[in-house]
Amino acid sequence: MHEFFPTHVYTSVLQRGGSRDLNRQLLNEGRQLRADDAAGRRWSAKNYRGGYTSYGSSHKLHRMSPTFQDLERRLKRHVKAFAEAVDWDLTDRELAMTDCWLNIMSRYAVHGLHLHPLSTLSGTYYVQVPAGSPGIKFEDPRLDRYMAAPPRSGHARPKNRPWVTLPVVAGQVVLFESWLRHEVASHPTAAERVSVSFNYNWF
Ligand code: FE
Repeated sequence: MHEFFPTHVYTSVLQRGGSRDLNRQLLNEGRQLRADDAAGRRWSAKNYRGGYTSYGSSHKLHRMSPTFQDLERRLKRHVKAFAEAVDWDLTDRELAMTDCWLNIMSRYAVHGLHLHPLSTLSGTYYVQVPAGSPGIKFEDPRLDRYMAAPPRSGHARPKNRPWVTLPVVAGQVVLFESWLRHEVASHPTAAERVSVSFNYNWF
């Protein structure tokens, strides 16, 4: 059996030795941003109920803050590893970060199924993930072509399942192609789930 056309999801710790200092700094700046960003809080109340995201207001944080710029620098080798795994030819082209924004999920916040249009590579870095907090759930991009496929067995291998949830922890990076639909289920705990998401583009 050949297996063609895989869907790649990359995951790694950001750096060996942990990211406690970086995470503390991102958390402090993130909470300060939420306090200062009235436009973002309004946008979130409409589009991200129960949570705060700077997606609608401050979505170039890597250009605004040395801390987020530092995160961008540390992500470079991971982006390179992804590009190598999928054999992208980036000769004379640079896969550059175009957007970088913050997400804070409070209790019962949900991040509905979505993809990232107008981008090539997307991903998330996890700053704080309380115990019991959901991972990131991916949907098979071919779901609408399955037509009459039978349901999967309860023991189906992850590669054959139409949905896969990847557990996440603080200090972890996840990367995937921007067309891959994903969601985060309801966050059940009072402690906040904090992450930084980003897009890359090559043109
Ligand atoms: Fe997303």
